[in-house]
Amino acid sequence: MSRVYNFSAGPAVLPEEVLKEVAAEMMDYRGTGMSVMEMSHRSPAFEEIIQTAEQDLRDLMGIPDNYKVLFLQGGAHLQFSMIPMNLMKNRVADYIVTGQWAKRAWKEAAIFGKANKIADSEDQTFSYIPDCSDLPISPDADYVYICENNTIYGTKFHKLPNTKGKLLVSDVSSCFLSEPVDVTQYGLLYGGVQKNIGPAGMVIVIIREDLIGEDTLPGTPTYLKYKIHADNGSLYNTPNSYCIYVCGKVFQWLKAMGGLEVMKERNEKKAAVLYEYLDNSRLFQGSVRKEDRSLMNVPFVTGNKEMDEKFVRAAKDAGLVNLKGHRSVGGMRASIYNAMPLEGVQALVSFMKKFEEENL
Ligand SMILES: *Cc1c(COP(=O)(O)O)cnc(C)c1O
Repeated sequence: MSRVYNFSAGPAVLPEEVLKEVAAEMMDYRGTGMSVMEMSHRSPAFEEIIQTAEQDLRDLMGIPDNYKVLFLQGGAHLQFSMIPMNLMKNRVADYIVTGQWAKRAWKEAAIFGKANKIADSEDQTFSYIPDCSDLPISPDADYVYICENNTIYGTKFHKLPNTKGKLLVSDVSSCFLSEPVDVTQYGLLYGGVQKNIGPAGMVIVIIREDLIGEDTLPGTPTYLKYKIHADNGSLYNTPNSYCIYVCGKVFQWLKAMGGLEVMKERNEKKAAVLYEYLDNSRLFQGSVRKEDRSLMNVPFVTGNKEMDEKFVRAAKDAGLVNLKGHRSVGGMRASIYNAMPLEGVQALVSFMKKFEEENL
């Protein structure tokens, strides 16, 4: 067996400890004689799995009792429409467009009502976070929407926008569990788990209870109402049970690591190794305004397309894979999620140094 350092933006690297555990439990999950894949989602064994996963997530994030945790399907993309269908009571919402995912969410919301783009950073290829201290928030806005960590461009809101009392809705897909958060700052936060938590196929929605009701937009399908999932403990229909199980293992791994404060320190340390090198390299440059840099996704370029391609190929041969940037921006991107060890980032920087010496 030989494992690579996988810098994919998602689906992404998972902790080896977790992969080993799920492998060990594959044929016989704790004396049930079956894999979790083969298990009824109504069985006592699975009930324990989902309840433990939810409790561990609550412990990790300090989720208050008046917030519901929902394990849903349809990826982050389905939330682009579920959010307006459930929360756009006045049919008005304000969107801060800091990248492709926020833009898609904004466009989707326009199907349901007036979706105002109140700020954006497209003028400089989304390489910064706009000033959000005094935005023209609509008086009748049902919520203000952000994408908190911009996976493709490598920017992060280090300070939440001033929503002037309006509900904040946030896509945290690529920074989920990377550092502590104050859940009470949000009406709803959600993320696809395939970036920083588990396998693809699930999204976790954390929503304040008073926002869950019957008064969704007319025509909202039953399945797209938060209420049906909240009332049924995410078991209205068959959930992505195996994904919930693996995510639960990751929550336990995070707890054993010391929780989100410790993860934040680790992530800062890892990111510093890479950013420090980029700031001093003569071949590679980071492409994001320094104060808006993400701890999770680090895009960089040489400024020469052929050189970028040569680097990505050579890195792959050295066991450093999935470093090609998103097709919309080019260059390179290293995603260094929770499960990427410091050694992986150090190996990348050593390789970049060597490549720089050989190619300047
Ligand atoms: C990957 C990603 C998405 C899209 O996720 P899907 O699960 O493929 O729908 C949305 N938002 C962010 C921030 C992402 O990183």
